[in-house]
Amino acid sequence: MLDPFGRHITYLRVSVTDRCDFRCTYCMSEDMTFLPKADLLSLEELDRLCSAFIRKGVRKLRLTGGEPLVRRNVMGLFKALGRHLETGALDELTVTTNGSQLARFAAELKSSGVKRINVSLDTLDPAKFKDITRWGRIESVFEGIDEALRVGLRVKINAVALRTINEDEIESLMLWAHGKGMDFTLIETMPMGDIDGDRTEQYLPLSIVRARLAGKFTLEDSDYQTGGPARYVRVAQTGGRLGFITPLTHNFCESCNRVRLTCTGTLYMCLGQDDAADLRTALRASPHDHQLEAAIDEAMTRKPRGHDFVIDRRQTAPAVARHMSMTGG
Ligand code: SAM
Ligand code: SF4
Repeated sequence: MLDPFGRHITYLRVSVTDRCDFRCTYCMSEDMTFLPKADLLSLEELDRLCSAFIRKGVRKLRLTGGEPLVRRNVMGLFKALGRHLETGALDELTVTTNGSQLARFAAELKSSGVKRINVSLDTLDPAKFKDITRWGRIESVFEGIDEALRVGLRVKINAVALRTINEDEIESLMLWAHGKGMDFTLIETMPMGDIDGDRTEQYLPLSIVRARLAGKFTLEDSDYQTGGPARYVRVAQTGGRLGFITPLTHNFCESCNRVRLTCTGTLYMCLGQDDAADLRTALRASPHDHQLEAAIDEAMTRKPRGHDFVIDRRQTAPAVARHMSMTGG
């Protein structure tokens, strides 16, 4: 699949549910209205959609959410999609999770063919964890991470850099992750969906964080790539990898290879734009996939050049109205 700007689209992210067992302050408001369950595609329909994308050239699939591991029977979907790894049609099947259910599911993920996972964790402090996630228990995340490592999954820790909230902990998070042999990636907060607080207060540019870390550690340039938006350095003192996802301070759209599917079958060609394609109608119109494949082709012609994220005090409304949990991070 080629978009109008010559970019090959080889990576599909699928939000399998918009629901979550946490309410992270930068992601959701406390009182969220979720989609009625009847609007959700079944797991079989999600499989059919993902398989159509794989036939059209997607090589990497990430299941995300909301919290993907709270969707009932989601392991059935991982197992089913694992067949594309066995045939060689797919290079990688992976997941982004908050870790709360990982202790239960790590072994099954591994046996479905998942090799690497991303776990989101913004602090090591139990009280701060409660403040950030509102509903989460950090102990279950630690147990989940340990189980994932025990069964042989490679784990990357993702943390959103939040001014005054985890700003003072970034170095200790990195040292902790590297100490356990995990990569560590920092993310800038993006203006998506209404939250109860003010994003201007939370926004911490990673250019500042990077400069601070560079004052204490030797950050060696690295051309390591995972097919995602992160840019990596190697930290000489720890031997670990440190990634930066900087949608605000450095726009990475020129190398974008991704599209995103929601659990209702809406395809967003860009995380930061509202234009979307309805694939559910094409999916349900026929048991054959011709119409679906035509709808995917048409959507690719509409992939925009990039997003227009800005966070500053003059712009109070989020750049896009939907929450990250709908399109999947
Ligand atoms: N629930 C899973 C999790 O937390 O890993 C998967 C979905 S979550 C939406 C995916 C990633 O997006 C997480 O790393 C989360 O921290 C990040 N995220 C959520 N809202 C964000 C925002 N407004 N700006 C930047 N990152 C955000
Ligand atoms: Fe849930 Fe992930 Fe959003 Fe936190 S970041 S509320 S864990 S979807």
